[in-house]
Amino acid sequence: MALRSDVTRRLGSKLCRFCGAALKRTFVDLGMSPFCETYPSEADLDKGETYYPLHVYVCDECLLVQLEEFQSPESIFSDYAYFSSYSDSWLKHAENYCGKMIAKLNLDKRSFVVEVASNDGYLLQYFVKRQVPVLGIEPAANLYKAAVEKGVPTLTQFFGVELAKELVAERGGADLVLGNNVLAQVPDLNDFVEGLKILLNADGVLTLEFPHLLRLIERNEFDTIYHEHFSYFSLLTTVRIMEAHGLKVFDVEELASHGGSLRVYACRAENQLHRIEASVQNLIEQENNAGQNSPEGYSGFAEKVKQVKLDLVDFLITAAREGKSVAGYGAPGKSATLLQYCGIGKDLIRYTVDRSAYKQGRFLPGSHIPIYHPDRIRETKPDFVMILPWNLRSEIVEQLKFIREWGGRFIVPIPKVEIF
Ligand SMILES: [Zn+2]
Repeated sequence: MALRSDVTRRLGSKLCRFCGAALKRTFVDLGMSPFCETYPSEADLDKGETYYPLHVYVCDECLLVQLEEFQSPESIFSDYAYFSSYSDSWLKHAENYCGKMIAKLNLDKRSFVVEVASNDGYLLQYFVKRQVPVLGIEPAANLYKAAVEKGVPTLTQFFGVELAKELVAERGGADLVLGNNVLAQVPDLNDFVEGLKILLNADGVLTLEFPHLLRLIERNEFDTIYHEHFSYFSLLTTVRIMEAHGLKVFDVEELASHGGSLRVYACRAENQLHRIEASVQNLIEQENNAGQNSPEGYSGFAEKVKQVKLDLVDFLITAAREGKSVAGYGAPGKSATLLQYCGIGKDLIRYTVDRSAYKQGRFLPGSHIPIYHPDRIRETKPDFVMILPWNLRSEIVEQLKFIREWGGRFIVPIPKVEIF
């Protein structure tokens, strides 16, 4: 299969990020939305915002589901608001991963581990603690600083073929290369994956974690589609992309993170240390059974998404007519996609709350729904609280059970609208 080169990427629009074929088939069109990680402050409200299409295509040739990129990665990542170290469960996930890989690959002080998009060093710090030499690569300057403070050597650069070659020339190949939640955000996919291959030494192992398209479709997680995520991967397309760059996917695990993710293990195609495990074929069969091995199999999602909009807006309008108040809980990036697509503003949801001090006093992008401290819920006693980070549903219901004192109820919008 021909690969898309950087030249075709610049010349043409709507060409597949991986194979270069023209993109003609709509997966879902979510309308227009501002960038979801930009939370306007009070002063920004008078300035207006730029909206970009959230029109997702599936490539007829290679089946990669994708959005066009409308913003340079430099501007997305220069000052990224998401610090991985803020989440306890994510830190635990990272620590477990390190222990597992040290045992599996016999890593020690002579080994070399590289993480691409290493965030604030939340993961590599556990290798550092166990004396395994590491290098983080993180383009966001504020995250880079936090990583260095943790004692994690970090380069503040974008990763691709050029940087991989420099690193190999300086330090030799890596025994373990990892990338968590970065593959979806890479505009030049072929340059990035080729870079990963170059960086791996002959016996080296690559692990990549990313949200699994099969779960996104099954669980109707359309709000995880946003401008910062350019590509949405099935295992089938992942194997194809890796093969095109001389890499072999030899194992895969399913993880609960981000609404259902995959951890894919790969090595150089010629590496004989790793046989392809049954897990790979089993999961590809699940995808085939769901119709994901043909372009036609991707139809039907848009209709499911529309149903959420009809049910949610219907409920909110009825509540508004009856004089009931609705507040949100949480201000995750995905809330912007949901609210913009459904056309929900302050007239239907008065405010939302978030634990992040950075977001309090700011506004949701597009809808300009104000974000307050969580105490606001107890003070204003809303009739309904809509849980925007539905992936944390049970945790939030437990935290907010006090709303029952005044007869408050919860709304969960996804996978389908539920009131309880
Ligand atoms: Zn393609």
